[in-house]
Amino acid sequence: MKARKILLSESEIPDKWYNIMADLPNKPLPPLDPGTGEPIGPEALAPLFPMALIEQEVSTERWIDIPDEVRNIYTMWRPTPLYRAYGLEKALDTPAKIYYKYEGVSPSGSHKPNTAVPQAYYNMKEGVKKITTETGAGQWGSALSFACQHFGLECEVYMVRLSYDDKPYRKIMMNTWGADVYPSPSNRTEAGRKILAEHPDSPGSLGIAISEAVEAAVSSETTKYALGSVLNHVKLHQTIIGQEAILQMEKAGDMPDIVIAPFGGGSNFAGLSFPFLRLNLEGKTNIRCIASEPASCPKLTRGVFRYDFGDTIGMTPLFPMYTLGHTFVPAPIHAGGLRYHGAGIIVSQLLRDDLIEAVSHNNPEVFEAGIIFARSEGIIPAPEAAHGIATVIAEAKKCKEEGVSKTILFNLCGHGNFDMKAYQDYFEGKIEDHELTDAEIKASLAELSTPEIP
Ligand SMILES: *Cc1c(COP(=O)(O)O)cnc(C)c1O
Repeated sequence: MKARKILLSESEIPDKWYNIMADLPNKPLPPLDPGTGEPIGPEALAPLFPMALIEQEVSTERWIDIPDEVRNIYTMWRPTPLYRAYGLEKALDTPAKIYYKYEGVSPSGSHKPNTAVPQAYYNMKEGVKKITTETGAGQWGSALSFACQHFGLECEVYMVRLSYDDKPYRKIMMNTWGADVYPSPSNRTEAGRKILAEHPDSPGSLGIAISEAVEAAVSSETTKYALGSVLNHVKLHQTIIGQEAILQMEKAGDMPDIVIAPFGGGSNFAGLSFPFLRLNLEGKTNIRCIASEPASCPKLTRGVFRYDFGDTIGMTPLFPMYTLGHTFVPAPIHAGGLRYHGAGIIVSQLLRDDLIEAVSHNNPEVFEAGIIFARSEGIIPAPEAAHGIATVIAEAKKCKEEGVSKTILFNLCGHGNFDMKAYQDYFEGKIEDHELTDAEIKASLAELSTPEIP
């Protein structure tokens, strides 16, 4: 029998996170205070995050210890399995070898608890009582609800309206772990009321929900905010994925030529790829790392590298990143986790330096890829994850055309068991292509008044 699952024991769970900041050839530009245009200091983030996370956010130490309490909770689902995708290889009739790291085995069904748990832990340690957050597809809200409940913290979630209506069971899941969930835009915050006054039927967006959650956090002393993507400390926590994957690829006696992951703000992409990029940066390997994004929200492939806000209203510092403009509201595709206008600072710098690649896929192609995967490998992928699978299929087809065998590793960052509405729409022929015109992108970017980066 050929080995399909490559497993690790609990004692092999890494005890440090990998911080790629230590190894970047070009350090990213600093975030700026929108008022003064000056670089912000760590104290600017203090109303939002506990000090331990702010320190990680600005750290340039290569390795950061994972607290025992966190590692102990990781054992609830980690190490996650690495699979050889024999079924998908056969379905594609490709000479490529395909592997995937499966993060859907976590309690909430995606990679998000890898950072939700340490974030809740550090908040608890510093005496915080409540955490507010936003959620798109509901994956992050679920993960944080689970983590907060574990450490006795309250959790308040602003859920993008579109997903709130489409995914009632995600909301119930959060309620089961004890969280309060509100559809965003809501009338609980000034940011939400402002949007509702202009667009009473707004489907919401991650940018809007972030504005609401940030506003709710800064209005109380014992409340902080948590972000499930984009920021450096979030990417840091996710590197547990790639570190395990390296051990597993070694066990399989193989090494990837190509590493692929879907891209929303960059955390699962960073989580899988940064430990492999470290090998590249040390000159040991030459692995292509590809981020897969939706054609309807193409910040990496069609956005500009520019200082922009992380939220829609403009409450955050200015970040140097690839962006479509903070007022951009993406089409209501089902991959809620990928409907974000910007990208993390580190991944943006890596793309600018040509150390990673990005591709986009249109909506029908993504669902076709998800169905091929579900029928050949069994697991029904989250629509976000299916973006990565579309890239895998494109690369595997190239291998077939060129008659070469490459080894491809991708991140199956979540299952789609709560995304049946998306699959239902696909089967009913309602999945549309939402490719943006250049004029639409130009119009959104025209609203940016932030400094250009030469
Ligand atoms: C949140 C999420 C994403 C997008 O976020 P990243 O930070 O880019 O990883 C992708 N897939 C799933 C399953 C998610 O839950």
